[in-house]
Amino acid sequence: MEAKKMYIDGQWSEGSSGKTFDVINPANGEVFAKVFESSLDDTRKAIAAAKKSFYVTREWRDMDSQTRGDFLLKIADAIEAAKDEFAMLDTLDNGKPLREAEGDIDDGIHTFRYYAGLIKAPYGGVYDVNEGFGKMHSYTVHEPVGVCAQITPWNYPFLMAVWKLAPAMAAGNSIVFKPSSKTPLSTVKLFEIFDQVGMPAGSVNLVQGPGSAVGNELGENKDVDMVTFTGSTRVGQGLMRAAASNVKKIGLELGGKSPNVIFADADIDGAVEWAMIGIFFNQGEVCSAGSRIIIEESIKDEFVKKLAAKANAMTIGNPVNNPDMGPLISEAHMNKVLSYIESGKEEGALLVCGGERYTEGECAKGYFVRPTIFDNCTSDMKIVKEEIFGPVVTIQTFKTQEEAIALANDTDYGLAGAVFTSDLTRAMTVIKEIRAGITWINCYNPTFNEAPWGGYKMSGIGRELGIHGLEEYQEVKQININLTPGVVGWYEN
Ligand code: NAP
Repeated sequence: MEAKKMYIDGQWSEGSSGKTFDVINPANGEVFAKVFESSLDDTRKAIAAAKKSFYVTREWRDMDSQTRGDFLLKIADAIEAAKDEFAMLDTLDNGKPLREAEGDIDDGIHTFRYYAGLIKAPYGGVYDVNEGFGKMHSYTVHEPVGVCAQITPWNYPFLMAVWKLAPAMAAGNSIVFKPSSKTPLSTVKLFEIFDQVGMPAGSVNLVQGPGSAVGNELGENKDVDMVTFTGSTRVGQGLMRAAASNVKKIGLELGGKSPNVIFADADIDGAVEWAMIGIFFNQGEVCSAGSRIIIEESIKDEFVKKLAAKANAMTIGNPVNNPDMGPLISEAHMNKVLSYIESGKEEGALLVCGGERYTEGECAKGYFVRPTIFDNCTSDMKIVKEEIFGPVVTIQTFKTQEEAIALANDTDYGLAGAVFTSDLTRAMTVIKEIRAGITWINCYNPTFNEAPWGGYKMSGIGRELGIHGLEEYQEVKQININLTPGVVGWYEN
């Protein structure tokens, strides 16, 4: 099996150690690919290449934005031409159903096209400033930050990479990118396209290997000007400490434990459908998952019955064959999810459905867990407090709107949240009170390239996507022009 190489300074490389690591198909536990592991030395070479490309050769940084945008359009076209291959890679190493992987690739193509256009839009501001020093003209320009390190998780391997790469590239930065070691394959393919379209040497570099070594260096190294990270809150906190080494700019997209608040006047069948998407899409391995259903007491029994019927009817199987749910990412993660389920039972929550590994037929060796619903939950339970990152949802009830809001906000996280009601005033009141960055009314999970994505509280810092996503990768420079040349008169005496 030929191992996939890393990409440093415009060259494919086996790295200084020649060591490889395995990529496992979670549907059957088999190794199906190998990848060369970057050493500390390789990581430093990649950072040095990015630094040279940004500060010395400057080809990408100094390119006019129309030409840079044209590169992104070529990249989008090349991804589109290889769409099936990209989708299959994400399905094989991540375990997501193929149609969901295809959706991710479509989104990624549009993200490249979106930033190709946005970088050409007029930018900056002109300010009407006071005349304390005479007449002045003040305006701003946006400039790339410099060397950006980017680190992504395994749950949306291709899409999380594109959400970071497309705006950072559009802005003219030089990049060192590290995917999750569990799901590096679609990123390697993406870098093959960067190579094909002729991205200048050093402007985009790919290192691969464990976060504890490679990722940590990206946070610590003083030649890195900015680090952006999507992953767990714990690792994000560590990166924040590391980034203090040279006061790097930092962007963090972290975990969540998002509330899905359902009032008695909601369309119940609609709320059930969206709640399914909220918690079981992508096996529940979604940062914004609606993992805490908070429902008005009077409709709880009817809702739970309908939700359980749908959950029990879900098909589970090899993700290549498009079941409703594929396997979880790894054996270790499956065991973690199962141990949360055990803790739910021990703490007195009522297991309504699921609650176990699924091993029927072709699933015997994979890491499948049945969709799981816990009723009678309380805020102090571990399954309500901690991010499980699997197909497990908890149900809590409320009697008043105030109680619903208090339960929704009773979390360290603040990534997402939703409210279901037919009362517009209530919808607007409750949604404003939910302390989260991405919220929905009468739906759950739709995401758009054009609108900002990111969390409050321990769910992160900064925003991806939309114009905010571009601005994260830019510095703002203020330029002040003196319109009344001559002596100012300040030191006249
Ligand atoms: P993770 O364990 O934090 O890993 C994320 C990335 O960080 C991986 O590439 C990992 O490398 C790397 N890493 C690990 N230790 C590191 C260190 N000390 N320094 C630098 N990098 C390090 O998270 P995960 O399990 O992959 O992903 C699940 C988490 O991501 C969940 O908490 C989820 O909520 C969050 N997430 C958030 C968003 C959002 O938009 N807010 C989106 C998706 C996922 P290796 O794995 O290769 O060792």
